[in-house]
Amino acid sequence: KDAILSVRGLETHFFTDEGVVRAVDGVDFDIQPGSTMGIVGESGCGKSITAKSILQIVEAPGRIINGEINYNPRPAANSTTDILSLGSNSAEMRSIRGGEISMIFQEPMTSFSTMHTFGNQIDETLRLHTNLSKAERFDLAVDWLARVGIPNPVQRMHEYPFRFSGGQLQRAMIAMAMCTNPRVLIADEPTTALDVTTQAQILDLLQRMQEENDMAILFITHDLGVISEIADDVTVMYLGKVVESGPVFSFFDEPKHPYSKALLTSIPSMFTSSRERLPSISGSIPHPQDRPIGCPFHPRCQSFMEGTCDANEPKLISVNEEQEVSCFLYEGS
Ligand code: SF4
Ligand code: MG
Repeated sequence: KDAILSVRGLETHFFTDEGVVRAVDGVDFDIQPGSTMGIVGESGCGKSITAKSILQIVEAPGRIINGEINYNPRPAANSTTDILSLGSNSAEMRSIRGGEISMIFQEPMTSFSTMHTFGNQIDETLRLHTNLSKAERFDLAVDWLARVGIPNPVQRMHEYPFRFSGGQLQRAMIAMAMCTNPRVLIADEPTTALDVTTQAQILDLLQRMQEENDMAILFITHDLGVISEIADDVTVMYLGKVVESGPVFSFFDEPKHPYSKALLTSIPSMFTSSRERLPSISGSIPHPQDRPIGCPFHPRCQSFMEGTCDANEPKLISVNEEQEVSCFLYEGS
């Protein structure tokens, strides 16, 4: 299948006074057109830095040092571009960022200026990415506000973002990300700060928009309940690496990596009658700077094999037609 976005060997490191932090340390995954890839992992595993790397918005002292991000919006036209080969400030990159690939954040105020009305900000996005007239841009923005469920959209266009409630800001940010009709939407924990009802409405809205536009979604979260609702495929990250990837059903039914298994048993089970909270993963995630030698998960792994797991790093390998895993338990099997 032709992926719309194919990430290969992505490495994004932070060059701090205390040393180099390998926040993203060789990440590979593919996203198919019209489908949703969920990226899961605890905080600090490199999920957000991976997303920011795709749009080349990693802040200093972070730097993308290796990899390819092949973007192929029209497979029939064989139009693949390695977007990392475009300068982060080049005209092509600025046209892709916020136009063809847009992003919504956990904290919506990140996307807005407090100095300008919401209307002026969405107009700026539309001016950059479309050829519409000012009047057409206004009408389109109002339409989008209405579609994301914001009452009195015409009036809201003239208001400043701080007048919006948290849920409304999240919706307004989605309107701003969607108004350019992106091919790929990156959503970084977009519902974490919201109440359960609003969260469900937002997920529903994203799925409807995905169906209408055949848009691909990269959905970043630590919430496996959300993943089970929205994702087609799952990539599990740990300390800057992919430890497992595959279809969402295989992930829930037959997780392969010990970390995936631990993640799944540390949440209240959704699929059994037991309402009990199962034991959580032992130990805590090490600071990326104190990366263990060998398998990054070995200090917490219940299947740890001395002399193997603390000596070498397992590679991501296929274990069947659909699942990939990086763990010595599966090598040579
Ligand atoms: Fe555990 Fe070893 Fe597999 Fe790492 S490689 S997850 S330490 S069994
Ligand atoms: Mg994050």
